[in-house]
Amino acid sequence: MKIQQSPPVSPWDGVFAALETWYARQKGDENRENNEDPAPVAADPSVTAIAGLYRRDPWAVLASTILSLRTKDEVTLAASKRLLEKAPTPAALLSLSAEEAARLIYPAGFYRTKAANLTKIARILLEREEGQVPADMDKLLALPGVGRKTANLVLSEAFDLDAICVDIHVHRISNRMGWFGPGGTAAPDKTEAALRGILPKKYWKRINALLVRYGQIICRPVSPFCSRCVISTWCSRCGVGKAR
Ligand code: SF4
Repeated sequence: MKIQQSPPVSPWDGVFAALETWYARQKGDENRENNEDPAPVAADPSVTAIAGLYRRDPWAVLASTILSLRTKDEVTLAASKRLLEKAPTPAALLSLSAEEAARLIYPAGFYRTKAANLTKIARILLEREEGQVPADMDKLLALPGVGRKTANLVLSEAFDLDAICVDIHVHRISNRMGWFGPGGTAAPDKTEAALRGILPKKYWKRINALLVRYGQIICRPVSPFCSRCVISTWCSRCGVGKAR
């Protein structure tokens, strides 16, 4: 009788399965009643949460992603909801004064600049895109205040396209894991390019939410919790000094 052998599990599958299990547990802890040891942050990163709440509406995702830059998750979430209640579309935002838009998103970091950029973006979308957020990397990058991180997050969270959003957490953890060799990558843009070459496409959309949350709770910038890490088996701990 021929013995059926199961296919070898790739390290990527192992890493992502472990991260998904950990993430689901965080979410469970967050929702459990009378939880005495809640996760220190909400289960989904703010933009993922907004994408869920607003049915992946591209304007909601774009606005929330811009607000999230250099801003804590809980602030982003509250500011996004306040803004989207008054400005659910680019046209609605243009009916607000600059002062009003800034007040709605306060205390998001750089709230005046972000309010001004969102107003400029709303005008551009109405003039060139019939009020719609384009599902196009180059067009997104041409908008004020939109870099690759924002554009990739909009493409994946709003349009469900294969895009890799690399923020500081994805950049730090993937380098610590040793995915790019001992030299690593110098900046998030380089990490994105390197990941495109090695990461199976099925994980592109998911890597951001998983590693953002993992970086906030376990693989912290300073002194990561390696002793509690669910992916330590695969980690080379490149550049990690003090750890807990
Ligand atoms: S083993 Fe440590 S450095 Fe590596 S991913 Fe886990 S927490 Fe981060």
